[in-house]
Amino acid sequence: MRNEAKTVIIGGGIVGLSIAYNLAKLGEEDIIVLEKNYLGSGSTFRCGTGIRQQFGDEANIRMMKRSVEIWKNLEEELGVDVNFRQTGYLFLLYNEKEVKDFKKNVELQNKFGVPSRIITPEEAREIVPSLNMEGVIAAAWNHTDGKANPFKAVFAYANAAKKLGVKIYEYTMAKDIKLENGSIKEVVTDRGVIKTRRVINAANGWAKLLNEKIGVNIPIEPYKHQGIKTEPIKQGQIEPMVVSFKHDGVYMTQEADQGGVIGGYALKYGPTFDITPTYEFLRGVSYRFSQIIPALKYVNVIRIWGGYYAETPDGNAAIGKIKEIDDYYIAAGFSGHGFMLSPAVGEMMAELVVNGKTDKPIWFYDPYRFARGELRGKAIQMG
Ligand SMILES: Cc1cc2nc3c(=O)[nH]c(=O)nc-3n(C[C@H](O)[C@H](O)[C@H](O)COP(=O)(O)OP(=O)(O)OC[C@H]3O[C@@H](n4cnc5c(N)ncnc54)[C@H](O)[C@@H]3O)c2cc1C
Repeated sequence: MRNEAKTVIIGGGIVGLSIAYNLAKLGEEDIIVLEKNYLGSGSTFRCGTGIRQQFGDEANIRMMKRSVEIWKNLEEELGVDVNFRQTGYLFLLYNEKEVKDFKKNVELQNKFGVPSRIITPEEAREIVPSLNMEGVIAAAWNHTDGKANPFKAVFAYANAAKKLGVKIYEYTMAKDIKLENGSIKEVVTDRGVIKTRRVINAANGWAKLLNEKIGVNIPIEPYKHQGIKTEPIKQGQIEPMVVSFKHDGVYMTQEADQGGVIGGYALKYGPTFDITPTYEFLRGVSYRFSQIIPALKYVNVIRIWGGYYAETPDGNAAIGKIKEIDDYYIAAGFSGHGFMLSPAVGEMMAELVVNGKTDKPIWFYDPYRFARGELRGKAIQMG
């Protein structure tokens, strides 16, 4: 292992790897990524694969619009098909209040070039014929939303970063960050010390533990959320991500390559570092899946898992430079939408680090907003 680097990124999830790749793409050299376990082992490999631009605020809509542009060209850029498919997101709406709120969001999304629209229950059923339409009065639909394969995306970013000279050390835990007069001196790992002046904390659910070592206080807490996957069903049955807030934020979609139905709902536990799957979730999600698509009653669940939503008080990540310590940055606390955001976040962080500024709406994710009591509107969350 090298014992010196210009930049040390802590966290080998999709966000840390996207930042590493984008930094190297901008010409930065001498970058190390530390991952305490194996790449993707945090939240990323446990995610629901969804990628949407249907948010209710300008910053997330703009970031996701940029992310989707990158997702679309990722195969060309990184040389690997990450199974990005624009199969859409379909929000089922059950009352006038929901319709009113989603109409407002659609107007904002359209303003920034996202072609979402409100459709009738009949149109929704044309998109997913097996839906139970009982009580559905409208739906919000965007055909340019979609999904991708987190496993392929992680290795695509990691290998592309390596090709540009980034060193990635798995099974290497950052145990401490040593300071000298407000500047970073070194990162202490369980495999030795790395001398560096710059650290990027991309540890998501664990970000707070690193911050605590150097007296930085940003409220990010790990909550257990779970996912399931069913046995494969005939391809093309549930192409979009289908979401219902009436059924506690249940979401489901069929994987692009293997055909299983993957999804979850809003049952959460925590803050906790325990991610053991629960029977309560298995029962709850099976019931809700079959409320939305009754035929799923006859399909077997083959896998259930737990993972973290790393949550801030407003459900939006903390991204930016930490003022008290020279060259210390954070990009963490992505809740249920860090996978989808990671391409644009990587670009934004690389611009910030290299140029000291970015034209992306980084102000929205300001890590100091909590201390100022300036919470953003809660991002649309599922699961
Ligand atoms: C059930 C579920 C469903 C989800 N569905 C979606 C979805 O559909 N769409 C979406 O966009 N998002 C979804 N998410 C959220 C998404 O998974 C995360 O927001 C995203 O993966 C965050 O990526 P990350 O790289 O920031 O974090 P992580 O993948 O958690 O990576 C952080 C890494 O840091 C490492 N690390 C921590 N501390 C240290 C240390 N001291 N030293 C070295 N390494 C360290 C960890 O091991 C970990 O691998 C879902 C999450 C869950 C749990």
